Amino acid sequence: MAYKFIDNYREQGARKQLVELLKRRGIEDKNVLEAIGKVPRHYFFDETFWNQAYKDIAFPIGDGQTISQPYTVAYQTELLHIKPDDKVLEIGTGSGYQTCILMELGADVYTIERQQNLYDRTVQVLPYLGYKPNFFLGDGSKGIPQYGPYDKILVTAGAPFVPEVMLKQLRIGGVMVIPVGSEKEQKMVTILRVGEQEYERIELDTFRFVPLVGDQAW
Ligand code: SAM
Repeated sequence: MAYKFIDNYREQGARKQLVELLKRRGIEDKNVLEAIGKVPRHYFFDETFWNQAYKDIAFPIGDGQTISQPYTVAYQTELLHIKPDDKVLEIGTGSGYQTCILMELGADVYTIERQQNLYDRTVQVLPYLGYKPNFFLGDGSKGIPQYGPYDKILVTAGAPFVPEVMLKQLRIGGVMVIPVGSEKEQKMVTILRVGEQEYERIELDTFRFVPLVGDQAW
């Protein structure tokens, strides 16, 4: 695939329109909208498909995976209430677009991807674009215990259940956002860790994610 990094008026204009669309769809957090307005989503597409980059749709990124729909990225990010310097674990780096949004909000991101090709690409492209998260290759369904606890945990693939081992990596007061359900559709779930053994779980809207595949997953 031929990736190019030029941000023209056309793409900038399309990005502004996308932000307006997300506002109309109910995204309210100004910082999240500002981050979406800053990160050139077309950089994560082959130039042939730049005309698709600012539509509110998921799009194939190879290896059977997708870059999430902008609304989904905004929705999950809003639920996390990212504060500058939050230590965030992201499961499913994919294209790296969501990672950049988290970093625009000031997060220190630990991101893990199980597909070698996607990992190889983000390890090169994100630092080139000025984003330097901590990259990992492997099965993120078990989290990354050696770097925990995390202030926030974001899972960007559909899980059959909430992995217990991941919950343990959440700081007390921390929040996890994870889509949970069948392989066909999932409910967005937020979990607040309120104590050593206590968690508050809220189920929200229905989404369709690619499956979380691994030891503590499908
Ligand atoms: N957030 C990404 C973006 O902005 O492009 C989209 C992520 S895509 C919907 C889900 C990703 O999760 C895929 O790249 C997939 O390979 C990855 N994935 C699935 N199971 C995983 C696992 N156990 N550990 C790490 N990554 C996983």
